[in-house]
Amino acid sequence: MDNQLLVSLTEKYGSPLYVYDTEKISSQYNRIINSFATVKSLKINYAVKANSNLSILKFFKKLKSGIDTVSIQEVLLGLKAGFDPSSIIFTPNGVSLKEIEEVSKLGVQINIDNISILEQFGHLYPSVPVCVRINPHIMAGGNRKISVGHIDSKFGISIYQVPLIKRIVQNTGMRINGVHMHTGSDILDIDVFLAATEILFNAAKEFENLDFIDFGSGFKVPYTEGDISTNIEELGEKLSERFNEFCKEYGKELTLMFEPGKFLVSESGQFLAHVNVVKQTTSTVFASIDSGFNHLIRPMFYDSYHQIDNISNAEGRERYYSVVGYICETDTFASNRRISEIREGDVLRFKNAGAYCFSMASNYNSRFRPAEVLVYNGGDYLVRTQENFEDLIKNQILIDFND
Ligand SMILES: *Cc1c(COP(=O)(O)O)cnc(C)c1O
Repeated sequence: MDNQLLVSLTEKYGSPLYVYDTEKISSQYNRIINSFATVKSLKINYAVKANSNLSILKFFKKLKSGIDTVSIQEVLLGLKAGFDPSSIIFTPNGVSLKEIEEVSKLGVQINIDNISILEQFGHLYPSVPVCVRINPHIMAGGNRKISVGHIDSKFGISIYQVPLIKRIVQNTGMRINGVHMHTGSDILDIDVFLAATEILFNAAKEFENLDFIDFGSGFKVPYTEGDISTNIEELGEKLSERFNEFCKEYGKELTLMFEPGKFLVSESGQFLAHVNVVKQTTSTVFASIDSGFNHLIRPMFYDSYHQIDNISNAEGRERYYSVVGYICETDTFASNRRISEIREGDVLRFKNAGAYCFSMASNYNSRFRPAEVLVYNGGDYLVRTQENFEDLIKNQILIDFND
């Protein structure tokens, strides 16, 4: 999107501001669809936790995507956005049996990731088919914090426990209708991912009545010019062929599922903030913006990189800055970053702000969470207003100490 337009959006809707481009969302969605064109039955379930704005969800519905949810509240958001329960899959970790029962009663596909709940659920509802989340013990990504397939990960049922799953199925009479894996974010190497899919295919052979195999996500997006990203076209070519071959062996046309979050929305989003103060210290030039980790925590939480551009002075001479927030904690977005000359009042644009940015925002320092704008068909639409003081205090109960 054009710099001038982005600056004008901050004038129209206030600052800081999240802006999402639906065109980027649909092009990423279609990249996956096209990469797996030879698979007869393909279902993409967008991972709601990446960005749970209702209008974004509704846009995914328009694209004919399903959704992947991790809490009953995300399921309710999906229903509110118009999804049919049959287009929703529930893939939680460590939630109560009660929550799983409630979601199941809504008609949503359940994905169970531990033996204890599988056994209890199977005894109570043997006629409800469930999917099992398998941990193939493969680390697809580099960052341990966002890799969930390794040996001491809390996610999934170990691949070595497939015999135990089978015993539970036999004892309860329940049906396993899907097998699932999610090895975590940032697939750096397609061959490692394909090795994990082989492990899942092997597990799939152990269950007779499957309807689908869900390969999760972890597709990496580029954060800088020339950064590595998952080559979805290559993955599509290799995995489609292997999947079709597996279906033949298995004797049934299964549905291939994915549940990407970041891949679908990360690059669609931009975060815009104003520079409040430019401050020189003995060693650094700080640019302090009207935001902090209350609005965008990824750089502080897992060292993620967001490209930052000064869109008010794009042609200015480049200098080195530390971009920091206004929170009374260390909240460094970027250190020693080359950015075109920053003046107080300029608008900085953060890229890759569509996934795990607003959805992780908080009210720390009693700040309001920002507004969100969706750009669709050349128009801009406010899809969430900035919070106000009433929002901050609405659940608080002020007690009277004059007893
Ligand atoms: C978070 C999550 C995803 C999405 O991961 P991305 O890296 O955003 O694509 C998919 N599946 C499950 C089970 C998740 O928890």
